[in-house]
Amino acid sequence: MAKMLIGGELVGAQSGKTIAVRNPANGDVVGDVPRAAAADVDAAVAAAAGALPAWAALPGTKRAQLMHDAARKMREVVDEVAKLLALEQGKPLAHAKLEAGRVAENLEYFAGLADKLRGDYIPLDDPAKFGITIRRPVGVVVAITPWNFPLTLMANKLCPALAAGCTVVLKPASTTPLATQRAVEAIASAGFPAGVINVVHGAGADVGDLLVGHPRVSKVAFTGQTETGKRIMALAAKNVTRVTLELGGSDPLIVADDADIRRASAAAAIGRFFNAGQACLAVKRIFVFEKVAEEFMAKLSDRAQKEWKVGDQFAADTKMGPLHTEHQRAEVEAQVGDAVKRGARVLAGGKRPEGREYEKGWFYPATVLADVPEESRMATEEVFGPAVPLFVVKDLDEAIAKANATVYGLGSSIFTKDMAKARRAAEQLDAGYTWVNDIQVAYDQLPFGGVKQSGYGKEHGIEALEGYLEKKSVVLASG
Ligand code: NAD
Repeated sequence: MAKMLIGGELVGAQSGKTIAVRNPANGDVVGDVPRAAAADVDAAVAAAAGALPAWAALPGTKRAQLMHDAARKMREVVDEVAKLLALEQGKPLAHAKLEAGRVAENLEYFAGLADKLRGDYIPLDDPAKFGITIRRPVGVVVAITPWNFPLTLMANKLCPALAAGCTVVLKPASTTPLATQRAVEAIASAGFPAGVINVVHGAGADVGDLLVGHPRVSKVAFTGQTETGKRIMALAAKNVTRVTLELGGSDPLIVADDADIRRASAAAAIGRFFNAGQACLAVKRIFVFEKVAEEFMAKLSDRAQKEWKVGDQFAADTKMGPLHTEHQRAEVEAQVGDAVKRGARVLAGGKRPEGREYEKGWFYPATVLADVPEESRMATEEVFGPAVPLFVVKDLDEAIAKANATVYGLGSSIFTKDMAKARRAAEQLDAGYTWVNDIQVAYDQLPFGGVKQSGYGKEHGIEALEGYLEKKSVVLASG
C-alpha cells in the first residue's frame, strides 16, 4: 500500500482505512492509499506549522539548492511515476512521461527565483524617515489538486510555495493519488526538513473541507471545478484564508477567413483531444468564419477520425486513453446527446468504440459536431471530454461576442494572418490567456489564471510567487 507523508514519515491513516485506486481502462484495482480523517489532517497541518519558522528563515540560496536537488531526484523516477500516472489516470504513457518530466522543470524554474525575492526602498514625505517593504511567506499552504493533470497541477503549487518559504500540505484527487505520492517521496528525498512537504489522501468532501477550514492554514491553492472552488472560497472565508482558484473553462477558438486551415485544424485537434479532452485549458468551442467553415470542418473531422486513435494507455499507437471515470464519460455522452436531440450534426465520433478491448473501460472517441444550437449544453457548459461544437460566424464582432458569452474565462485562441484581428482578439476576449496562431500550451514563464468564474490568482511565472508572499511595510526613522 502507498502511504501518506506527514512530518517526514511515511504513514498510514490513524483509522487504518484505505481507498482503492482503479485503472480506468478496465476497472482493475491498481493500488490503494490511506483514507485520512480529522486526526491525520491535524497531524499534517501541525507538521507543516512546526516546520514553517525554520524553512521561512532559511536563506533563499539554500531553498534553491534543495529544489535543484529535488529536480534531479524527480528525473530519476520519471519512468516509474509516469507508469503509475498512466495506470491510475488513463492517459497514454508517453503523455504521462511528459507530465512527470514537467515536475522537474517546474522545480527548476522556481528554484531559480527562490534566491531573488526582495523588497523595495521607498522615500517618504518626511526626509528623516524612509520606508522599505519586506517579503514574508504567507505560511502553511494547502494544495488541492484534480485528477486530470495530477502532477503538473501539484507542481504548480508546491514549487512556488517552497521557493517563497512556505510549508505545504498536498491533497491529490482520491482517484489519482499514486503518482503524486511517489513523486513527492522522490522530491522530499532531496533532504527537505521534516514537515516542509506533507501529503494526505482522501475524498474532497471530508479531508478537503477539513484542510480548507483549518485555523492554522494560511492559504489554499486549489484547482478543480468551479462549483468546488465556490465552496472552498466560502469555507476559506471563515478564517480569512487566502485562496488561489484555478477552475473550469470553456475556451473559444476563433478561425478567421484568412487563417491557415491546416495549422488551425491541427491546433484545434490537439487543443480538444489531448488528455481525452480532460483539460482545463482546452479548445471547447470553435467559432469559424463562414467562408472557411466547410474546409475547416472537413479537416478537423478528418483529423478526429484518423489521428486520435482510442485505446489502452499502454499501447504504443494510442493517442487517447479511456476517460477517467464512468461519470465523466456519461457526462460527455449526455452533452453530445443533448446537442444531437436539438438538431446538431455529428461529423466525427459520437458513439462508443466497439470491440472487446473497449468493453471494460470508459472509452469515447474524438467527436466533432456542427449546427450546435446556442442553447445546448455543449454551448453553455464546460465539456470535459473529447467532443467539440462548431459554430459558424460571419465576422470577428460576432465571434468575440459569442466567445465571451459564458461565465468562464480561462484560455482562448485565434487563427488569422491579420494583425489587426489578432490584436482585437487579444484585447477583447475575456480570458487569462490568448494564443495567436498557436496551440494552447501553458509556459512556465507566463502567468496563467482565469477571469470570471474560471478563477482567481495566478500560477506560473514570477507572478505565481506573489500568491505565496505577503508584502510588509516598514518605516525606519533615525533612532
Ligand atoms: P473537483 O473540483 O471535483 O476536485 C478537485 C479536487 O478538489 C480533488 O482533490 C477533490 O478531492 C477536491 N475537493 C472536492 N470537493 C472538495 C471540497 N468540498 N473541499 C475541498 N476539496 C474538495 O475537480 P475535478 O473533477 O477533479 O477536476 C476537473 C475540473 O478541474 C474541471 O472543471 C477543470 O476545468 C478544472 N481544472 C482547472 C484547471 C485550471 O488551471 N484552471 C486545471 C485543471 C482542471
